[in-house]
Amino acid sequence: MTDLRELYQELIVDHSKRPRNFGKPANFNCHAKGFNPLCGDKLDLFLQVEKDVICDVKFEGSGCAISTASASIMTDALKGQTLEEATELFQMFHNMLTRSRDSQENVADMGKLAVFAGVNEFPARVKCATLAWHTLRNALNGGEKIAKTE
Ligand code: ZN
Repeated sequence: MTDLRELYQELIVDHSKRPRNFGKPANFNCHAKGFNPLCGDKLDLFLQVEKDVICDVKFEGSGCAISTASASIMTDALKGQTLEEATELFQMFHNMLTRSRDSQENVADMGKLAVFAGVNEFPARVKCATLAWHTLRNALNGGEKIAKTE
């Protein structure tokens, strides 16, 4: 378990230092802003959705390592997914971070997203990790309003 934890930490550090899919794309048809006032994380999320498939997704923003890594790994995971699959991922991610440690039976199915499983031990950081996902939900619901972590 310690090895796994170290691997997860390395992934988070790597994605926070060199975020993937960073920048504003030339074409996008869904956009939302996210803000986590507790930590000061800010995020702009841009998606190109065609026929219910997420063809491209990028983000801009500034925030802590967890929020940046979460947005980076999320955007990687979303490319090529249908809107339904994206909604399922949102639910799984949200459950993983808000449930007790004992009921994380799905973590193995989550690929790189599982690196955030340990974050649920740190309630203040959960909002950092879920910010990108709340912003995603707003973007897909067509909202231009700012997603705030509750
Ligand atoms: Zn943060």
